[in-house]
Amino acid sequence: MISHAERSAGRWWKAQRDAELKRLNAEEPVNEHPPPYVRHIRHLCPGIAGRSVSFDYAEVYVTSPALMVSNKLKVQVLDQELAENSPPRKVDAVILAGRFGYVYREGRCAGCGHTARSLTGRVVDGIERLPAGRKVVQG
Ligand SMILES: [Zn+2]
Repeated sequence: MISHAERSAGRWWKAQRDAELKRLNAEEPVNEHPPPYVRHIRHLCPGIAGRSVSFDYAEVYVTSPALMVSNKLKVQVLDQELAENSPPRKVDAVILAGRFGYVYREGRCAGCGHTARSLTGRVVDGIERLPAGRKVVQG
């Protein structure tokens, strides 16, 4: 059962990561944005004489940092020093690092350099839904 504070933190985390993914897609544009249920991308590769090849559209799993929810569900990254020096008046919850994951996909064809990345990701429960791929990033 997820608490009210955790729900707020999950929403905050999604907004943060959606913005970060949007920035990444703007600064490092890719060739296509396949939907998240795609696992492998098949194309006629100009790098391998137009042959039909596939490459992994692999999961990227970003783990949430430790978060503090305070003063009417305001969410922020838990800063130990700040919390000790000027503690908020009312702490609703401290949420451990890795409580949430943010999942999206990306891939690149080794033959021609064709690239793909999700437009948005989704938040998962970091306790129940562990990373399924190789790429795990600390958020
Ligand atoms: Zn290719």
